[in-house]
Amino acid sequence: MTVLEQILEANRRFVASPPSGLSPAAPKPSKLPRRQIALLTCMDTRLVDFLEPAVGIRRQDAVVIKNAGNSVTGPFGASIRSLLLAIFELGVREILVIGHEDCGAAGADPAALTAKMLARGISADAIKMIEGQLAAWLGNIHHPEANVAQVVGRIHANPLIPREIPVHGLLFDPHGGGIRVIVDGYAPPPEK
Ligand SMILES: [Zn+2]
Repeated sequence: MTVLEQILEANRRFVASPPSGLSPAAPKPSKLPRRQIALLTCMDTRLVDFLEPAVGIRRQDAVVIKNAGNSVTGPFGASIRSLLLAIFELGVREILVIGHEDCGAAGADPAALTAKMLARGISADAIKMIEGQLAAWLGNIHHPEANVAQVVGRIHANPLIPREIPVHGLLFDPHGGGIRVIVDGYAPPPEK
């Protein structure tokens, strides 16, 4: 079976006997996050079906935004756009940036990555377009704890994000499931 066939087969089984609460007769779920929170976290496979239960987040509780290294790239990059919609359209009032230990993005090396891209036939011209950005981005996420603090700082400093929204920074252990606070979004900002 191809991947697509596996996915479609799983979907046929799912629709034929849905989990309780998902039957067509059940009330239509709201798309608004019940707990008015947004999570920005990593795309790591080990977090799937693991991070949410580990922090008590259930379906419809929160907006969950994922990318490699829970990154914020630029003042109007995809993560910020998602957060703007989450805040102004979906009623989010609090943001949690959840990085994790042992992050694959932290170990990625720009030179090795571009070499792999070249070896797979990606044109040198195309790589030239992203070279500087790639190095800057991966350079920032070499240390998951520092990356979380930096991403929190970027969200907090973004002029499009309302000042009163607390932004917390957390670090998750993808093995044991424990979490620790890197930035407490309720604490007053440090004196400048
Ligand atoms: Zn990661």
